Amino acid sequence: LCVPLEEVTIFRQTSGTTGQPVYQPDTWQDWEWWTGCWSYSLWAQGYRPRDRVFIPFGYNIFVAFWAGHYAAEKIGCEVIPGGVLDTKARILKIQELQATAMMGTPTYILGMAETAKMKMGIDPSELTIDKITCAGECGASIPSTKKRLEEAWGAKVYDHAGATEIGAWSFECRDQPGGMHVNEAFFLVEIKEVATGAIIEEPGQRGKMIITALDRQAQPCVRFDSKDVIEWSADPCSCGRTSRLIKGGVVGRADDITKVKGVLLAPSAIEEVVRGVDGLGDEYEVVVDKVGDVDRIKLKVEVLPEAQDQCQLVEDELADQLRLKTNLRYDIEVCGCETLPRYEVKAKRFKDLRKKN
Ligand SMILES: [Zn+2]
Repeated sequence: LCVPLEEVTIFRQTSGTTGQPVYQPDTWQDWEWWTGCWSYSLWAQGYRPRDRVFIPFGYNIFVAFWAGHYAAEKIGCEVIPGGVLDTKARILKIQELQATAMMGTPTYILGMAETAKMKMGIDPSELTIDKITCAGECGASIPSTKKRLEEAWGAKVYDHAGATEIGAWSFECRDQPGGMHVNEAFFLVEIKEVATGAIIEEPGQRGKMIITALDRQAQPCVRFDSKDVIEWSADPCSCGRTSRLIKGGVVGRADDITKVKGVLLAPSAIEEVVRGVDGLGDEYEVVVDKVGDVDRIKLKVEVLPEAQDQCQLVEDELADQLRLKTNLRYDIEVCGCETLPRYEVKAKRFKDLRKKN
């Protein structure tokens, strides 16, 4: 702690994406800084004082959309806190109050659309939401997931990256340039080659992000190894902002990318394929294990009711695309609709059982 304890006004906890959760104390000035970081993101995504922002988030010890909430207020939007309500009640609130924007994890926003369609007979694309900010998972930067989100809601979907111990360090702007801006007024981002530790300056080469928050006081963030895998984009953004772009957003986490049958596999590549195949539902599950000495990948998917009579075609298309995009073969299991687990916060769809041995 770098300030006297009496200056701390709040503490939160990391979601523990990797390992043990960590407590994060902040001063009042840190909190103003957090909401400042988010305000830049929201403004770049077209949030304006006339917007009515619905936040379908269980307000708790995780920082998640707390800062998004206060940032939306700071730029003059009306904010509707949608905590405690269940998914159906949240959809009814959006309808009744004619909300124009919302924030959530891509998993939850897709799940809301499914609930609206399947259980309430409401087409979410006919509601008044015209923009959605996604955070917490990579989905909104994965083209096929973004397309599903945008089609389901009839809205623009923007990616946002942040972390409890860092702050809101990156955002996609309204031009959707196929990447995210680094919030460079608040952060210094470096990219480090995983094997050698050398700093990567040129575009097109992936590495781990090393980040410094320029004005965080209670528990500073100095050259923090976030394990996010990113690369610089070669092109400036058409929106005119000069802050640098990372291509394709956060493309994975250094500890998620794993070798299967000798081939490097990023779980996000499987998501890109599954969500790109017509006739498949949004959920899937991947389990990697070993049969004898050989790696095996089991992939469970759901076929939508309207594609049930073309199950084999859908499965063949999936297998072809997976081979093409990931160079691997999968044991595919087609499950009934709504049989795979649904997630509200961070989805756990990729399980590597080899690591236990
Ligand atoms: Zn831009």
